[in-house]
Amino acid sequence: MKLSELEDFLLSNNEKKFRATQIIDWLYVKRVNSFSEMTNLSKELISKLNDNFYFDKLEIIKKQEDKDVSKFLFKLSDNNLIEAVLMNHDYGNSLCVSSQVGCNMGCKFCESGRLKKVRNLETSEMVEQILMIEKEIGKRISHVVVMGIGEPFDNFDNLVSFIEIINLQKGINLGSRHITVSTCGIVPKIYEFSKLPYQVNLAISLHAPTNEIRDKIMPINKVYKIEELMKAIVDYSKVSNRRVTFEYIMLDGINDSMDCAKKLADLIRGMNAYVNLIPYNETENISFKRTEKKKILEFYDILKKEKINVTIRREFGGNIDAACGQLRAKGEVK
Ligand code: SAH
Repeated sequence: MKLSELEDFLLSNNEKKFRATQIIDWLYVKRVNSFSEMTNLSKELISKLNDNFYFDKLEIIKKQEDKDVSKFLFKLSDNNLIEAVLMNHDYGNSLCVSSQVGCNMGCKFCESGRLKKVRNLETSEMVEQILMIEKEIGKRISHVVVMGIGEPFDNFDNLVSFIEIINLQKGINLGSRHITVSTCGIVPKIYEFSKLPYQVNLAISLHAPTNEIRDKIMPINKVYKIEELMKAIVDYSKVSNRRVTFEYIMLDGINDSMDCAKKLADLIRGMNAYVNLIPYNETENISFKRTEKKKILEFYDILKKEKINVTIRREFGGNIDAACGQLRAKGEVK
């Protein structure tokens, strides 16, 4: 529940509004696991809280570790499984959280989408991924990326509550510039996202510079064409004054020609944006192949020459299937 919702609950239950901040402090700063531990609340309020709320515990059922990266498999209270990935960077600990059980976007190259959406994650289940992992590792998470299983803009309201809750200064206090949401391009939600009062980073899974190629690998492109997507992103940059990241996975023979690099440059020239080239992580069930290193570098050089801001994503977690597009909660998909 967001602070404002909790305040409303309290007021309509004959309690003082300021109790909300106390409760938030117990939950997110002191991190207690029951209402009875909230010793500055009256017995009466504690019993009202017990009657109306519950602590939804996720269970970590598996942890796999590799250099600088750990993958956590969570069991939700209805036995569904999700994953989160922790990366140790020199600037801090970054957590990649899931937003749904399964995903309906159907991107051809992505392992997570092989399990169709079972349900959206509750806001609490998204927040819990952070709390539980911080407890497990005994360290603070400094950055959150919503890039795990699921399409966050297909779970928009819970995503927005999640952002508000983790951003709250008196609570978990994750700075909005340390939060990144990634979408495959649900255009109307990009416009809605622009209107939010947070300075959260937006990443767009673009992966192709033309409709012809994008149609083949990302079904969402049949609904929202690249032109519409770009218009929404230009609007987002204007309204939010934020720089957008374009994610571009390099798929051998599909989207990695030098012609694609030029078309990509033409597409985003002049925008307040940068391109993150992602070496494709191969998975056993999908036949796409990774572009070879030399060609990725040539692609990168063309973008540079065209004066496009570009980086190549550092690779993490391939050995434990924890890399982008490899998350799928093994055992769920046959
Ligand atoms: N649904 C959102 C959030 C998932 S983010 C989105 O599409 O943006 C996960 C990122 O990893 C996306 O950019 C996705 O396109 C990318 N990805 C998927 N499969 C991949 C793979 N096998 N190798 C590298 N990146 C992959």
